Amino acid sequence: MSTFAAVDVIRAKRDGAALSDAQIDWIIEAYTRHEVAEEQMSALLMAILLNGMTSAEIAAWTTAMIASGRRMDLSTVGRPTVDKHSTGGVGDKISLPLVPLVAACGAAVPQLSGRGLGHTGGTLDKMESIAGWRATLSPREMADQLSSIGAVICAASEDLAPADRKLYALRDVTGTVESIPMIAASIMSKKIAEGTSALVLDVKVGTGAFMKRADHAAELARTMVELGAREGVRTSALLTDMSTPLGRAVGNAIEVAESVDVLAGGGPADVVELTVALAREMVSLVGLSADPAQVLASGKAMDAWRSMVVAQGGDPDAPLPTPRFREVVVADEAGVVTELDALPVGLAAWRLGAGRARKEHAVQAAAGVLCLAKPGDEVRVGQPLFELHTNTPDAFTAALADLSGAIRIDPTGAAFERPALVRDVITAG
Ligand code: URA
Repeated sequence: MSTFAAVDVIRAKRDGAALSDAQIDWIIEAYTRHEVAEEQMSALLMAILLNGMTSAEIAAWTTAMIASGRRMDLSTVGRPTVDKHSTGGVGDKISLPLVPLVAACGAAVPQLSGRGLGHTGGTLDKMESIAGWRATLSPREMADQLSSIGAVICAASEDLAPADRKLYALRDVTGTVESIPMIAASIMSKKIAEGTSALVLDVKVGTGAFMKRADHAAELARTMVELGAREGVRTSALLTDMSTPLGRAVGNAIEVAESVDVLAGGGPADVVELTVALAREMVSLVGLSADPAQVLASGKAMDAWRSMVVAQGGDPDAPLPTPRFREVVVADEAGVVTELDALPVGLAAWRLGAGRARKEHAVQAAAGVLCLAKPGDEVRVGQPLFELHTNTPDAFTAALADLSGAIRIDPTGAAFERPALVRDVITAG
């Protein structure tokens, strides 16, 4: 491999040049081996954030990050592999019903997930509210479970795109997370290294999302779909609304309970709609003919959920943790709810203990917010709007302050039109 002086690579990007594949391969490898200093990589990341990258640079950056670790081989699984990635939202528990649903449709879903940081929750944090459930599987256990059940939700191993792990931690503390090329390369390097043959991206847009603007969300989606196609992973993206929380439950155990309701044939309409929409896209990418709505209604997705939980040491019948303290917020006027802002609800759940401020913190399984009135619902004076759950009651004051302006009620009761949940679908080519 050619070698370069890090300062020359930084100067090139600072002055607006496109980096060569050789420069990118070298800097990622040398940084992963601790041979490029943190301050030099910080400077390069800031230059990338300010000057952007061409599609060729983004592709080379992604390939180099995949090559920094192990690319999994799922060719022996015996079912078509397809995964989903969400850019993260408030109340986004969709992976929980979706993974077993798509498995019950005949595919294998190798969902490597993370823990949450900030106001959007992590899938592993939610699953860990189930007694006995274990996030860590060996590659062998993962492959066996994919063959037999078709559904796995587990933690990514340390050797999956290690360059991204190191870079993400640096981006987090240098104000350089918000670069579309970097976000796309970060997400896609992990998903491609995981070995899935197809991928559906759920790119969220709205106040509770990473991407607040629709044009930015669409650009991120297009960049990721293109990266997937270049690497031979059939990829498409749904742009979905994240201006209001998904479902009613925002937290960990309460999101598991809501997901189980969906698998049992109930649950909130928006969670069901998005689960089925994503499942349809996943099933169609791998050429299966099952209808996810019918499979959900048949109870087979619930069977796959129970098998998946049991295979990872969990007890699907164990009662979920409940909070020691609850607080209820009631409506002080009557009317129709026209807005329920996702961001303050996510922040309130986080403050109550459902999320973490630093990666080493633990989350409370029982903490969170139940949204008892959603946009379109009619409310009376005194009707409960939110139920706050925590084991640390000191957190109530700040969480209540977050929620104070989160909901808007129109006293005239004018008809409310809910924005479309799936705003657009972006496919390759
Ligand atoms: N999620 C990731 O995995 N990477 C990013 O850069 C942002 C969100």
